[in-house]
Amino acid sequence: MADIIDGREYARKKREEAAHRTAALKEKGITPCLGLILVGEEPAGISYVAAKEKALLEAGMESRDIRLSRDVSEEEILTHVVRLNRDPRIHGILVQLPLPNHIREDRIIAAIDPNKDVDGFHPVSVGNLVLGKPGFLPCTPHGVLVLLEEIKIPVAGAHVVIVGRSNIVGKPLAQLFVRREINATVTICHTGTGDLRRHTCQADILVAAAGKAGLITADMVKEGAVVIDVGVNRISANNTKKGYRLTGDVDFDAVAAKASYITPVPGGVGPMTVAMLLLNVVSAAAQFADANCLGVSTSRNSNN
Ligand code: NAP
Repeated sequence: MADIIDGREYARKKREEAAHRTAALKEKGITPCLGLILVGEEPAGISYVAAKEKALLEAGMESRDIRLSRDVSEEEILTHVVRLNRDPRIHGILVQLPLPNHIREDRIIAAIDPNKDVDGFHPVSVGNLVLGKPGFLPCTPHGVLVLLEEIKIPVAGAHVVIVGRSNIVGKPLAQLFVRREINATVTICHTGTGDLRRHTCQADILVAAAGKAGLITADMVKEGAVVIDVGVNRISANNTKKGYRLTGDVDFDAVAAKASYITPVPGGVGPMTVAMLLLNVVSAAAQFADANCLGVSTSRNSNN
C-alpha cells in the first residue's frame, strides 16, 4: 500500500518560508503584492483566486483583485496588465486561466512585465526555464519537484512519464526533470500517444496531468512506482453540499494498492501550487527591492 503524500503539510512549510521572507521585506518597507486579474464568473476560477488571496494574506502579503466580465475585450485586459506593470506597489501579476475563447491568452501573457511574471508563463520565463537560467518557475511543475525533493524520492536516473503536454504543466515539468541537476529521463504522453499503458507501465515516477478523471488505472502503473496526480476534475455528486466532488486523473484506491507513494486529490499537488506562487511573489518583491537599492539583500528568485 502506497504512502499518501500530504501536500498540505509540505505546502505549509513553504508558506511559512514565504511568510518569514515577507516579514523581512516588510521591515524594509516593502509589502509583497500580487495583482490578480480574473475574467468571468466560472466557479473554479473564483475559488482558485480566493484560495490564492487567502494564502497571500496569511503570509502577510497583499493582493489587488481586478474582476472583469466574461465579455471584456482583449484591449481592456491589456490596459489593466499595463497598469499593473507600471505600478511600483505591484510586484507580481497573475491572470487566472483559462480566459474566454475570444481572448488570445498568449497575447495577454506576453504583455506582462517578465519581472512580474510570477506564474512563469511569459515567453521570457519559458525561455529561461528551457535554457536552465534563473527565472520564475511555473508554480505547479515547481511544486511537483519540491514535493519529490521533500519526500526524498530519488529522481536522478529515474524514468519519469508525464501524461499531458500543456504549456502550464506537462511541458515545463518535463523541462525541469531533464535539467542536469535533476537528471531524470522523461517521456511525455498526450492524446496522440498510441498505447498509453505501454509508456505509463515503464514509469518509476508517473505524473498524471491530463484532466481526465480515472484515466490512470492500476494496470497502467508499475509495482512500486511514485504516482503524482496533478489532475483536478469536478464530478457531480448529489450527496455533497456543493453538488460536486473533486477527483484527480488517477483511480486512487486501486493505484494506491500498487504504488510506493501517491498524491491525493484534493490535498496533494494543489496546495503546493499555491505555496510556490507565494514564494514567487516574495522573490519578485525582493528583486524589486534589489533593483531599487532598498537594502534587501536576496539572490534573484532564490526559491529556484
Ligand atoms: P490541458 O491544457 O487540458 O492539457 C491536458 C493534456 O493532457 C493535453 O496535453 C492532452 O493531450 C493530454 N490528455 C488529455 N486526455 C488524454 C488522454 N486520454 N490520454 C493522453 N493524454 C491526454 O490541461 P492542463 O492545464 O495541463 O491541466 C491538466 C489537469 O491538471 C487539469 O485537471 C487541471 O485542472 C489540473 N491542474 C491542476 C493544478 C494544480 O495545482 N493541482 C494546476 C494546473 C492544472 P493533447 O495535447 O494531445 O490534447
